[in-house]
Order: sequence, then structure tokens, then C-alpha cells
Amino acid sequence: MKPIRFYFALVCGKLTIAVLKLFRKRATNFPGSVVLTLCPKFLKYIEKPGKIIAVTGTNGKTTVSNMLLDILEDNGYDCTNNNFGGNVDTGICAALLKDSTVTGKAKKKYCVLEIDERSAAKIYPYLEPDILIVTNLTRDSYKRNAHVEYIFSILDNNIPDKTHLILNADDLISSSLKKNNKRTTFGMQPFEGEELVDNIVRDINACPVCSAPLEYSFLRYNHIGRAKCSVCDFCSPVPDFDVTSRTLTGDGHADMTIAHGKTIEKYNVPCENTINLYNAVAVITALRVFGLEQQQLEKSFKRIQVVRSRYDITEENGRVLRCIMAKGQNPVACSHSLKIAKDTPDCAIILLWDDFYDRKETSENTAWYYDVDFEFLVNDNIRQIIVAGKRSPDLLLRLLIAGIPEEKIKTTEQEADAAALLSLESIKNIYIFFDMYEDQYKEMLKVKIKEMMKNADRSAIP
Ligand SMILES: [Zn+2]
Repeated sequence: MKPIRFYFALVCGKLTIAVLKLFRKRATNFPGSVVLTLCPKFLKYIEKPGKIIAVTGTNGKTTVSNMLLDILEDNGYDCTNNNFGGNVDTGICAALLKDSTVTGKAKKKYCVLEIDERSAAKIYPYLEPDILIVTNLTRDSYKRNAHVEYIFSILDNNIPDKTHLILNADDLISSSLKKNNKRTTFGMQPFEGEELVDNIVRDINACPVCSAPLEYSFLRYNHIGRAKCSVCDFCSPVPDFDVTSRTLTGDGHADMTIAHGKTIEKYNVPCENTINLYNAVAVITALRVFGLEQQQLEKSFKRIQVVRSRYDITEENGRVLRCIMAKGQNPVACSHSLKIAKDTPDCAIILLWDDFYDRKETSENTAWYYDVDFEFLVNDNIRQIIVAGKRSPDLLLRLLIAGIPEEKIKTTEQEADAAALLSLESIKNIYIFFDMYEDQYKEMLKVKIKEMMKNADRSAIP
């Protein structure tokens, strides 16, 4: 018997969605906040779709859930989903509410949900995913998430026992989750000619069983790679879906060969960087477990696109401007961005990685600057670095510690002034790296720099 307050919350939630629609506002978390305020156990009582696939982990959640949803819909599965944005309890409630009847019954049979790792305790007791992908676990958002081991323990204590886990075999942290659950793992062997990166941060160095040092056979980035303990028999799991080769086809796609048991599967996937290849193989593994055939996946990959909104390119009069979003306080994502720039010739960089805009509820914490590999920028390709924002003195200090010559760095506390500090003399490539809070400044700078590129002297391009 469901309590009256559940039905009251349900009606109010439905009315909220209707009013938002009337004013042409997108229903994001707000209807979820309404129902949870009126009935804190709303998630327990609302009927869930019959089959739930969920995605969690530090990096790649949104890309993986969008890819899952696109492929499932392409194969005729109508799914409830929260890809409009909210991945905490309010967002999950809003998604289920939107696709429920007035009596709280689920309208759809399938469901794809992105779930914030920190919210596990509020969600999994009431919503049991049939399949849960954990993309990876690395340090991130220190103020909120503390250390990666803390997030691991939250997930380990709350993921339901019956959930089939899809785990990254190349991540020794997340692949150790819920030892007794049914699991299928994915991984990627080192590719011919692949540049493996040694980052400052490695979130696991010691064996979790006996604390002896780990020996890595390869490290792709941060702690992502394969290792074994130097003393006991703890080691990386053997991937059930193991990418044995990948060839970039030059059109933003890659041909992947995946060894699965005794069979070899081939896919052409719409992505080419390491991070998105991991995302694609996570999706393939989950959907093969779900029951889709290789041919169905292959066909769908031809029709879907990986959203590139976090990456945009403008070419003008011989010069190239690239704007790349990386979540601040996430040193793994930020280091990836810097790695892209480090091999680009005749390059100028504008950094909009200011923590200032995240100070609303708590104090700022700039510790993450010291976990980002600014050392990648110590080379002759990088000719200018412009740091903009209130935190520019902190970033200047970090860049100097990394060993970047002071004469290459300019700083301003006003983001809008960054373009005026940029000189296009001897510069062919410009990057703007920005945090999600700084989108408006990125747009402003993009317009100004495009204008500068239009009017600049082509002969000054190296
Ligand atoms: Zn050991």
C-alpha cells in the first residue's frame, strides 16, 4: 500500500511539468525536487521500467548513456532516460515522473539512466539496475567527493547484489567493485605506436590485498592500464571484451577489433580518442550483455554521432581556434586537454580554469591545480599561455612550478581581457580550455579572436 503523500507528490509533480511546459521551460531537476520534498521516498513508490541500464563512474557517463540510448532507440527500444541533464536523485525522479501515468505506473519498458556516483546511497536502495556500467573511478571534485576510495566505498556498499556489472578491466579501482556480483569486463590492449602517458596522479599504486607495490605492464594514462602485485596473486582482470587493435580511419571514426572469448568482433565506431574508445567498448559490452547482436550494433554505429559539444573548431584565414571544455576539479579530464595541445606546433593557449565560480556554497579548493599535468606544456610548441580569471595568480604559480618560462605567460583577472593579451604573430593554433562555468566567457573570446584571425597578417603564420 503506497502512502497518500506519494500520490499527492505525483499529482503535484505532474502539474509542475505541465506548468513548465506551458511556459516553454525545459523540465530538468525541478519536478524531481518538488516530488522529493513532498514525499522523500518517492523513488521507492514510483513504478520503474522493467529493464534498467544505468551508467556511473567519474569520466564518460554522459557520452556512454547518450550512445546507449541512441543505439537502443535505433533498434526500436523506447526508453525512459535522464539525458536532459539531472543525474542525482532529483533528476532520476524527474525522468521517471515524466514517463509515468497519473497513477504512478511506468509508461515505458526500458530505461537508460546516468547516475551520479556520490548519489548511490539515495538511489540504489529504491532502484535496482539490471545492468550497471562503471566507466572508471579517478579523483574528482575534491570538496564533494573527497578521495576516490571514499566514492568506491559508497558504490560498493550501495550497488544491489543482483545488478550485472560492466567494469573497466584496465581500471584496478572500479574493477574491484562488488566482488560477488555477476560481471563482464572490457579493456583495450596497447596499440601499435600508441603514446602511453605517465601522469602526476596515479590513484592506485599499492596492492589492495597485501599493500605491496604494483607492477604495471602498461599505463595508458593516470592509473588506467594493467598491473599485477609484486608479491601476491592480485592482478588486473582479463577483459571479456578486449580491444586488440584500432585503426583510425581519418574521418573521426576508428575500426576496432574486439576479442570476445574465441570470437573476434569488428566495429567501426564514431570516435577516435582513447577516452571515447573506452566509452564505445563499454557500450558494446553492455549491449551485448543486454542481448543485442554484433550486426545490430554495427549498423547503429553507422547512424549515430558522438556529441562533440565540448570541442569546437573554427578555421579562419590560415589559423585554427579550438575550444575545449574540461570539467574543473577533474585533473584527469584537464590533463587530457593539455595532452592534446602539447604536440600542436606554434601554439597559444588561453586557460579559463578558474575555480571562482564554484564558491557559492563552500570555500574554494585549488588543490586540483597540482594534480593537473601542466608539465605537458613545457616544450617549444607552446609559445604563449594566457591565464584569465580571479584565480590567475594561483595558476601562474602552478605554471612556474611546472617549469614554464615566465616570459611565455600573461595573466589577467578579467576573462574578457584575455583576447587583448593574445598575439597572433608566429601563432598558427590557438586553444581555449574552459571550465563548464565559463562558457559565456569562452563564447565572448571566441568572437573576438575570430575577428583578430580574420584581420591578422597571413604571412606571420609559421
Ligand atoms: Zn598483493
